Amino acid sequence: MCTRNPEALLAVSNIFTEVIELFGGKEKCPYFHIGGDEVRWTLFDNSHKKLRDECPYCKGIPYNKLLLDYINLRHEFFKARGIRMMMWADMFSDLHNGSKFRTTELVRTMPKDIILVPWSGEHDYPAIPGWLQEGFSVLKSSTGYQHNGICDQQMFGYMLNDFTTSVWLSFTYGRASSHNYYFNTSILRYGDLAWNNESAVSNREEGELGRTDYLFRYGNALCYYYNQERFPKQSSKTKILDITKAANSLRKDCFNAGWEYDLSAFHPGITDIAGIEMQVTDQCIVLDEKRLRVSDINLSCRASSVIFLHTAYLPEKKEEAFRNRIRTNGNFSEMPHFNPVACYFVKYSDGSQENIIMRYGLNVGAIRPPLHLRFPYHIRHVLRAQTGNWPEAQDGRDVTPGAPALYQYEWVNPHPEKLIASIDFVSLGTEVIPALAAITIRDVQ
Ligand SMILES: [Zn+2]
Repeated sequence: MCTRNPEALLAVSNIFTEVIELFGGKEKCPYFHIGGDEVRWTLFDNSHKKLRDECPYCKGIPYNKLLLDYINLRHEFFKARGIRMMMWADMFSDLHNGSKFRTTELVRTMPKDIILVPWSGEHDYPAIPGWLQEGFSVLKSSTGYQHNGICDQQMFGYMLNDFTTSVWLSFTYGRASSHNYYFNTSILRYGDLAWNNESAVSNREEGELGRTDYLFRYGNALCYYYNQERFPKQSSKTKILDITKAANSLRKDCFNAGWEYDLSAFHPGITDIAGIEMQVTDQCIVLDEKRLRVSDINLSCRASSVIFLHTAYLPEKKEEAFRNRIRTNGNFSEMPHFNPVACYFVKYSDGSQENIIMRYGLNVGAIRPPLHLRFPYHIRHVLRAQTGNWPEAQDGRDVTPGAPALYQYEWVNPHPEKLIASIDFVSLGTEVIPALAAITIRDVQ
């Protein structure tokens, strides 16, 4: 919006007035957060058209003056109602969005009773001492974008955070798809930072859990409670399916990408994954460009659900191409998540069929994702290879990929009364190579 267009200003004032009323009137509304972050004066997409330079109201006026005038105007609006104004603080940090349009310097002239709300630990928090010196009050409110040593240090001892993430990112396709599980875990983890845990590195001999262990514990707890399917025909009895007849690859080097990207760190045998027995063998099913389809994985049984243990490999060189499949304009174009990569065709003995779409980041994840991207929405449990050879976010910035992961996904069968003859596992031919390590059937009650 144009902050000098009287009609736009009136529209926003009306919205704010309505919001105050919805919250019980100004007597019950001592604070009001106006937003006000990421002011760019360009369109919020790939266009670099400078809106100020084309606007008859704004043309020629310095960018930082435009922002200052708007802040002052809003401040008067709320002050007249006895309400204290809050706003995001990124425009006042040189490490963040403050240097480009010299808006950092506005803190010298802005009303000091505005509460500044920094949302980036890494980019905003270092500016806090300066704001305090200017006389502002500051409310730390990390979005939880980063789980790393820098943020941990800054968050330690503070619980308040993340409300921004839960409101904003939940409704943003793309970011939500990759970060929803991540901000949920961050809420719990920040609780720990506030009250309990401050060690980055686990010291198991001393019985101390570090950042990585906590994140796994929380991530899997959230996955489990979100994705524990409840359905009427559900039985607690399960049956391990032998998929070795359909297997086309050894676990070792299954993606043809070396030991760092294979399943050799998962030892063969029956393992209990979140209460469900699954059998990892020496073999698995891999759908690469040479073998896009494995047909007729034999079931010959009824099932209330089918539980898959699978993973996926996206070669680094092909990431860009995969992202481009869903590239949209705007801020969130970098997220490849939810893209369909494969299908399970469930074939019933009566000739009918159900299709399960495997979506990257939804019901399957990358084999070695960065630590904080390990808990896709529809996954029941993430099994991580238990070995000490993998860097797991101990260097302070957990963009480092960690140990290989297998994802347990439970699909509820809409036709538990029908006999399932077999399942076909079919790649959709994207850059992602899916792999299936095990199937378990849940009986019908
Ligand atoms: Zn304008």
